[in-house]
Amino acid sequence: MQVIRPAGTPPEALTAAAALLRSARKAVALTGAGVSVASGIPDFRSAGGLWTVFSPDEYATLEVFQRNPAKAWELYRALGRTLLGRSPNLAHRALAEMERQGLIQGIITQNVDNLHQQAGSTRVFEIHGDHQHLQCLHCATLVAATADHYQAAEIPRCPHCASPLKPNVVLFGEPVRQLEAIHACLADCDLLLVAGTSAQVYPAAALPALVRDRGGRLFEFNREQALSATEHGQVEFLFLGDVGRTLPLLLRACLAG
Ligand SMILES: [Zn+2]
Repeated sequence: MQVIRPAGTPPEALTAAAALLRSARKAVALTGAGVSVASGIPDFRSAGGLWTVFSPDEYATLEVFQRNPAKAWELYRALGRTLLGRSPNLAHRALAEMERQGLIQGIITQNVDNLHQQAGSTRVFEIHGDHQHLQCLHCATLVAATADHYQAAEIPRCPHCASPLKPNVVLFGEPVRQLEAIHACLADCDLLLVAGTSAQVYPAAALPALVRDRGGRLFEFNREQALSATEHGQVEFLFLGDVGRTLPLLLRACLAG
């Protein structure tokens, strides 16, 4: 494993990493909370993050929503305050440009903030859903979410069956989304860029090993070493530092080569 830092990295290492990305048959990115921190969205698990204010067991399970939607909506309103009005940062923009340049073929994200799409990425798999829609669990209606929905004191109701709506995000106790499409996308992936996530939580945790076991390569982009410190994380290149600097660094090296 070679370590690349925004400052002081031997240029050969960066050139070698860029050459691998440029020559990959199919490169895909796997992203998590770390790519959105610079957009003002703290990692839910970090100090001051959503889960330290609202215990997931007490607020974020499917069972809580079904039993006490008013209580669950206290969390959802806080989620709205966390996510609404945010803009993509340099990490999102670098990944969007990588797609435009044909360097990566898609993004699998654990984030529900829609910032990859806002940055211009078009092929985004959202494992945990999105906050842009509200969902009716009774009749499967999806409604475009507005700021009002997240700010009003009343619980939004389904326009068809009047059941309480929930954000279209995966609650604890609900199945994750798009796994079949993600596995199909990764079937011929030979380079996975793992960015802003320790990839310790299922199902994201299983994806690097899936690529690796088929002979693919892994690059890690994190502020602190995470994936590559685990037994599954046999990483070719570890980009250490702010993902808003390391992802553009690799992009520029690819475009320069
Ligand atoms: Zn309904």
